[in-house]
Amino acid sequence: MNLKSLRQSFNRFYTGKRKTILRGTLTGLIGTALFAGWWFSSDSNGIQQSVGIEPPKQELGALPIVQPTLKYGFALDTFQVFENTIHSGAFLSDILLRHNLSYVDIERLASNAKPVFDIRKMQAGKSYTVLTKDSTQRAEYFIYEPNVYEYVVFHLQGDMEVTKVERPITTETKTSAGVIESSLWKTMTDQGMSFELADKMEDALQWSVDFHHLQKGDEFKLVYDQKFVEGKEVGVGKVSAAIYKTGEKEYYAIFYDNGKESGYYNLEGRPMKTSFLKAPVKYSRISSYYNLNRFHPILKYHRPHYGTDYAAPYGTPIMAVGSGTIIAASYTSGNGNFIKIRHDETYETQYLHMQGFAKGIHAGTHVNQGDIIGYVGSTGLATGPHVCFRFWKNGQQVNHLSLNFPPAEPLSEADMPAFSQLRDQYLEMLKNVEPKFVVESEDADTSGVARVGNP
Ligand SMILES: [Zn+2]
Repeated sequence: MNLKSLRQSFNRFYTGKRKTILRGTLTGLIGTALFAGWWFSSDSNGIQQSVGIEPPKQELGALPIVQPTLKYGFALDTFQVFENTIHSGAFLSDILLRHNLSYVDIERLASNAKPVFDIRKMQAGKSYTVLTKDSTQRAEYFIYEPNVYEYVVFHLQGDMEVTKVERPITTETKTSAGVIESSLWKTMTDQGMSFELADKMEDALQWSVDFHHLQKGDEFKLVYDQKFVEGKEVGVGKVSAAIYKTGEKEYYAIFYDNGKESGYYNLEGRPMKTSFLKAPVKYSRISSYYNLNRFHPILKYHRPHYGTDYAAPYGTPIMAVGSGTIIAASYTSGNGNFIKIRHDETYETQYLHMQGFAKGIHAGTHVNQGDIIGYVGSTGLATGPHVCFRFWKNGQQVNHLSLNFPPAEPLSEADMPAFSQLRDQYLEMLKNVEPKFVVESEDADTSGVARVGNP
C-alpha cells in the first residue's frame, strides 16, 4: 500500500464519518487501511510531512490513538471506533447490518434490550458509538447515549446482553450575580448564565418579583447547584438562595427543608409562596393592562378591558396561578377556549383565548398552583397569541396587579435556629459576589463577552 492510497483512505474515512457511517465491505477496506496507515504515519514524521498528511486534530477520538482513552468503560485504543449520530428515520438494524450483524442477531438484541431500553426510542441526532476489533468482522459493542446522564451498552457477542449505565453526577455549589440590562433572559445569557438558571431563579422568586416589570439596573445574586458529569457542566440543580433588588426593594428567597416541608422563605422565615402566582405564563410580556376605558383593537370602540393580556408564542404553557377546582373549560365566540378556576369562596381566575386545554383538564378537575392547564392561542376575539387573564374577587373582575395578599405563616420557633444558620451562611457567600461588566478593552484579544462575578 502506498502513501497516496493511505491518504485517500484517510480522507474518505473522515468525509464518510461526518456524513454517514461507512457501509459494508467499504468499511472493512478503509478500516484496515486506516489502521495500518495510522501506525505507519505516526511512526514516520518525515514521511508524513513530505506528503502533507495532516490528521484533523479534533477528530482523533475516532482513531486508535496513542494515549489510552477510556470511554464507556472501554479502552478505545484497542478498538476501531465509529462515532456518529442517529440519522432521521434510521433504525438500530440499519446501523448494525452495516457492521456485519445478521437480522437474527438484531432481533435477539432487540428482545434482550426490552427490559432495559426501548430501541424504538432511539432519537435522531443522538450519539452512538460502534466498537469493532476488525471492521470486516461483526462489531463487538454498540453504545447509545439517550442523554448526558446515561448510556446503553449493547454487547454484540456472546449472550448479547444490553446494559444501561448511569453516569455519576457531581454537584458543586456556585454563586452568580448580574444586573438587568434588557430582558432577564438576555441579561442572564449575555452574562454567561444558562437559560435554565434564569428559569430556576424565576421559580424561586415567582411569588414576590413581578418578572414582567423588571427595570434596567435591577440586580440579582444567586447561590445554586451546578451539576457535572465527567467534569462537564450538564445542568442546574436547586437555587438555594436568591436576592433580587429592584429600586429600593430587596427580595430574598432562601431554600429550606426541615424534612417534612421544603420551599423558599424570606429572611424572617416566612414562606415566599403565596396563594397566587404573579402571572399565568412565563417568558411573556404584558400586551394590554386592566383598563376600564380601553379602545378595543378589533371592535374599534371603547370598552372596559377587565383582564391583563400576556403575549407569548402559540403553545406556551399556561399555569393555574393558584390551586382550586376548574368550574369551566369551554368555548364562547368572544373568549375562545377558556378555563375558569374557583380557588376559594372569594377568588376565581379565568384564562381566555387558549389554543387548547392540557390533558385531563375539564370542569371538576382539581389543580395545584403552577399546574399546566392549557396552551397559549388566539381563539375567540384575539388579534394574536396571548392569554387574557382575569381575576375575580367576590364575583367582580378586578386588577390582580394591584392586589395584595396577607403573608403566610412563618416557620415554627423550632425551625428558626437551623433556618437562620443556613440563611446567614448563604448571605455570607453572596456578600462579595459582584456582577462584572463588559469593559471595552484596548486589548484586541478581549472577546467582549460579559462575565459573571463568580468568586
Ligand atoms: Zn384581554
